[in-house]
Amino acid sequence: MYDAIIVGARIAGATTALLLAERGYSILLLDKDRFPSPVMSTHVFFTDSLDVFERIGVLDEVLAIDAPRLTRMRFPYVESDFPEVNGRDFALCIRRDRLDEIPLRACERHPNIEVHTETRVTGLSWDADRVSGVRYQPRGSQTEETAAARIVIGADSRHSLVAREAGAEQYDDVPALFAWYYGYFRDVPRDEPVSVYAARTSLPQIEAEYAASFVFPSDDNLTLVGFGVQRDRFDAFREDHRGNYLAGLQTLPSVMERLGDAEPEGPIIGTGDLANFLRVPAGPGWALVGDAGCHKDPHTIQGMGDATRSAVLLSEEIDAWFSGEKSEQDAGRDYHQRRDADLKPMYDFTTNRLQAQVDEEVWDAFQTLTREDPQVARARVAATAHAIDPATVYTPEAVEGMVSAAKVAG
Ligand SMILES: Cc1cc2nc3c(=O)[nH]c(=O)nc-3n(C[C@H](O)[C@H](O)[C@H](O)COP(=O)(O)OP(=O)(O)OC[C@H]3O[C@@H](n4cnc5c(N)ncnc54)[C@H](O)[C@@H]3O)c2cc1C
Repeated sequence: MYDAIIVGARIAGATTALLLAERGYSILLLDKDRFPSPVMSTHVFFTDSLDVFERIGVLDEVLAIDAPRLTRMRFPYVESDFPEVNGRDFALCIRRDRLDEIPLRACERHPNIEVHTETRVTGLSWDADRVSGVRYQPRGSQTEETAAARIVIGADSRHSLVAREAGAEQYDDVPALFAWYYGYFRDVPRDEPVSVYAARTSLPQIEAEYAASFVFPSDDNLTLVGFGVQRDRFDAFREDHRGNYLAGLQTLPSVMERLGDAEPEGPIIGTGDLANFLRVPAGPGWALVGDAGCHKDPHTIQGMGDATRSAVLLSEEIDAWFSGEKSEQDAGRDYHQRRDADLKPMYDFTTNRLQAQVDEEVWDAFQTLTREDPQVARARVAATAHAIDPATVYTPEAVEGMVSAAKVAG
């Protein structure tokens, strides 16, 4: 009998495991993947994740990786430096096979955590109407085994088995907005200051009015270069995804000047499987963290930060329950409320739910203000990085407040 079984051992699962283990709880951490291995994801993260990495004792290892410090966000709708938080004023872009390995190895070293990789969880076990454990297929075996715990945590991504079998209710759904592809280029000159850069374009040959590219200087002298289109052009794009990716980059002189004649190293990969949703993240004997609990389009770069911050909230609430300070039900309710307060403003902005709640003229004025007022631009970048509470920027009241204050001042 473990205190917690965690399904999924990447950023959400390994972080949650370490946060619970440091409080003395016993953890079984299971993942079907072999490590180190990549996961379909570009990989910029901000100071909110660095703070959590410090807390779980892996920050030095993360900073020791040869990745450039990205000090500025240069997006079509906002440009400003990242603010300093706890002495750190930069984002990083580190390939996930290298990054995910660090907390996972820390879990393997921890005396309270038992790690099994290449081990697929095949189902949940139940005790009346509460989840009591998992069924899993150990590495190299055809037979199933079972393990029991006080709580089973699904850190098993957007198609979460734990969410599905526990019946986690889904809400605030928004169909996929874009399809994104990416590849790596070597020895691309760095911009100055080194930035998280994105530019908007179109791709007329597949009738995509909306397309965008992003350039993220990454570890090992690689630069991650992405290209994506509105979701309804995904099928047309993937008929020749490499050709369309390269043709798309050609539409952007700002990107091509940097890439020159360089060819992408390795394959171009991507997906249009990017539905947006939240799930109720806790119930009797189970909880969800990371993409399993909230999935959204990556264009605002929220996934890894949401995963690490939610891991902190979940571990605090489980500790309150296990230590007798709260009932399981209250801890689950509080985790749900705190998680949503933390990630919902950026979720709503990412999925255009916020824009739909604001008068169009007010939204246009907000965009103009962002271009003209460096303080507003700074606040939007700080909110994106969770250096300030995003609710101070990305709610209808906050947007309307900033626009009216500018009118009064102007
Ligand atoms: C194209 C793209 C670009 C992105 N770019 C960024 C970005 O730049 N920055 C950012 O912050 N986020 C980005 N994201 C989002 C980011 O990848 C996710 O938010 C993040 O990986 C979520 O972490 P996680 O630990 O919840 O899930 P994952 O990293 O997906 O890990 C889930 C783990 O669960 C395991 N698992 C699943 N089912 C089972 C099972 N039945 N049994 C055992 N193990 C199981 C899997 O093997 C996997 O290892 C991007 C996503 C995509 C698709």
